[in-house]
Amino acid sequence: MASTPDSDAVRRQLHQRLRSLSAAGVDWLPQGPALEVEATTPLFPADEIVEATGSAAPATEDRRIALAQLADEVRLCTRCPELCSTRTQTVFGDGQAGAELCFVGEAPGEDEDRQGLPFVGAAGQLLNKIIEACGMKRSEVYIMNVLRCRPPRNRTPLPNEAANCRGFFERQIELVGPKFICALGGCAAANLLGSTLSIGKLRGRFHDYRGIPVMVTYHPAYLLPHRNPAAKREVWQDMQMLLKKMGREIPPR
Ligand code: URA
Repeated sequence: MASTPDSDAVRRQLHQRLRSLSAAGVDWLPQGPALEVEATTPLFPADEIVEATGSAAPATEDRRIALAQLADEVRLCTRCPELCSTRTQTVFGDGQAGAELCFVGEAPGEDEDRQGLPFVGAAGQLLNKIIEACGMKRSEVYIMNVLRCRPPRNRTPLPNEAANCRGFFERQIELVGPKFICALGGCAAANLLGSTLSIGKLRGRFHDYRGIPVMVTYHPAYLLPHRNPAAKREVWQDMQMLLKKMGREIPPR
């Protein structure tokens, strides 16, 4: 059952926040009002706090806390000088630890950079439709990117940027613990599979990322009206294969 966090829960969360700051290299904090506000403000929304006696499996709850800590670390990241000086904010991911299916895209765009969430612009609206066509809700899948910062003018991520973000990428997937992954576009496929093959060659069959089956398909931005909407047909074929592998019914179109 969700509840308002008690003082123990707030203390525990504050402790965790301090540990993640310390892990990110922060070794002092200013005294004063800013810290007082921090100490009395729940770090997670009240409806996300699950009581120790609640029904969430402890392992999932631990992973949820570790994901929040990782997001805190990402927020402070300055590994890519250009990205961290041009971003409005970092874009970590959307969804819950324990989600069965994880979609992986390339990098935040302008809308994502503004809102702090992945896939909320035009490509995101299309991804929402794909998820719904599969008979799922956006809230039951996990959505993330190869990069956590917007590349200026939405350029393709540079290899060194993907390498800088790699530790976050791997840990994030590990903590979410999906049973299936869907790679959206070439950047996601290359970073998950280490393959430079085109989507045309990679799609339509399963690959493997650390024991997790991966379906590769076209990026939703490629399906937008001014690009190649006809490729929606192939994406739907890929989604049907994925649903079958997940043991789910394929909704009629
Ligand atoms: N494109 C991506 O690859 N990721 C987003 O979050 C948005 C658009």
